[in-house]
Amino acid sequence: MQGMTLRFEGALVRAGRPDLPDARIEVGDDGRVRSLEQASGGTARKVLVPGFANGHSHAGMAALRGLGDGLPLLEWLRVVMSAESLLTEDDVLWSLRLSLAEMIRGGTTAVADAFLWNERLVEAAVEAGIRIAPGVAVFGPEGVPYEAAGGQPLDGQIAMAERIGEAFRGHPLVRPTYGVHAVYTSGPEVFARVAERAAGNGMGVQVHLSESPAEVAEALAARGETPIETAARTGLLTPSTVIAHAVHATDDDLALIAASGASIVHNPGSNLKLGSGIARVTRMREAGIRVALGTDGPASNDALDPLRELRLALQLQRGSLERADALSVDDGLEMLTVNGYEALGFEPTALEPGDPADLVAVSADSVHAEPFHSPSGFLGWVATGADVTDVVVAGRPLLRDGELLTLDEERIRYEVARIAARLR
Ligand SMILES: [Zn+2]
Repeated sequence: MQGMTLRFEGALVRAGRPDLPDARIEVGDDGRVRSLEQASGGTARKVLVPGFANGHSHAGMAALRGLGDGLPLLEWLRVVMSAESLLTEDDVLWSLRLSLAEMIRGGTTAVADAFLWNERLVEAAVEAGIRIAPGVAVFGPEGVPYEAAGGQPLDGQIAMAERIGEAFRGHPLVRPTYGVHAVYTSGPEVFARVAERAAGNGMGVQVHLSESPAEVAEALAARGETPIETAARTGLLTPSTVIAHAVHATDDDLALIAASGASIVHNPGSNLKLGSGIARVTRMREAGIRVALGTDGPASNDALDPLRELRLALQLQRGSLERADALSVDDGLEMLTVNGYEALGFEPTALEPGDPADLVAVSADSVHAEPFHSPSGFLGWVATGADVTDVVVAGRPLLRDGELLTLDEERIRYEVARIAARLR
């Protein structure tokens, strides 16, 4: 690619703007869009769209895909965490790479990911070329998570988060955060301690809150406050906080989140698979909260396809509210692109000249795209990750004409199959 100008033609789809049927985008050497012009038309039919943000995942769990099917969240978590304790650091590395390959193939250009992270694992994500907000796992004072992979007790977890914060400070692709697990594992003291440290060093926070009815009931019984109230009281909710789920947030909870400026990541596929419920996304947006989309981990979804989550999100709001106008394709695209980038702390792009060159090209040259009268309608209702042909992050092509350029898929599949066989 050295010296060659990257150029894409197709129908341009962006949140909050009308579709541009014939656009030509040129990518500059500085990782930004050089030009956006009217194209002559008549080339291969594509949809061009800003890169997708996956606001919540656990990429290192790919070797555990499909585990514990049929169990509700808290029981599922026990099964998954016992398998996680057997993973070595190399297992986590190959799992991470498998997830990254799948994410890039589906058009993901930025991801917030809470798991065991260390410098080597963050470097692997950077090599793959994706933007990453690593949420360095912070559990509670009890037990050592990911023991076989080099996990540490609580103090070591916090120290690791801050080491990564230092090592990748100012890196264009990396936004280090504390990956505080949840109120039922970490507890209010850890929430308060991380909140204080984050206020001092400016790092962000990712945290699961009010995901399942059982989690909220347990919290109310233990402390007389919801998980979100605990997070607000301990100072954990700030504009740099990304809350996963909030499926069972009360109206008061939503008011607390709105006042704090924290973002919510909606993970419809995972919430449905684990029987956690349906998040009130429309209500969250009406409350003025920034809502993004996520897949959650490959063990609870089990696919990492942003377009699938977009569709589920639209369908769930319309179906549960019995209103066809509850959430529009444009609303969903805003969640998937702009809101996700802002939540993760990356500069959003509208693919205008000077904007970050984070771009996805989707083939619309197929039977399921006929008749092609609405490029955004095709993206919102029909296309899947399998239709994605090209992915560019910060001007660097990661997927070109369906070929993954930054990861060795054959090797990754071989290694993950070996790990899965061993765990069985
Ligand atoms: Zn999660």
